[in-house]
Amino acid sequence: MKHIKKIKDRLLERKQELENEFIDLNSEKFSDDQVQDTGDQALATTMETLRKSFTDTKRGEYKMVLLALEQIEAGTYGTCIDCEKPIASKRLELFPYATRCLGCQEVFEEG
Ligand SMILES: [Zn+2]
Repeated sequence: MKHIKKIKDRLLERKQELENEFIDLNSEKFSDDQVQDTGDQALATTMETLRKSFTDTKRGEYKMVLLALEQIEAGTYGTCIDCEKPIASKRLELFPYATRCLGCQEVFEEG
C-alpha cells in the first residue's frame, strides 16, 4: 500500500473533525432552553430527532475511522474484513475508511 501515510493523515484529520463536532453538539443546550422559552414540545422533538440521526451517522463514521486506523496499525489496512481480499485502491481513495470491498459492502447494506 503506497499511500498509507497519506491515508492515515486523512483519517486522523477526519477523526479530529468528528471529535470536535461531538464536543460542539454536547455543549449545545439547544433543545432544553428552547422548550422552556416557547413551550413548543413538537419543535424540540423534531430537533432532537434530527440531532439523533445526525449523531448516529457521525458515530458510525467515527467508528469506521477508528477501525481503519486500527487496521493501519495492525498492517491489515486495505483488506476486506469479510472476504479478506484486497479492497480496490480506487475505492480506498474515495472512502479511506472503507473496511469492506464493494461486493461485501453491498451484501452488508442489503442486510
Ligand atoms: Zn469482501
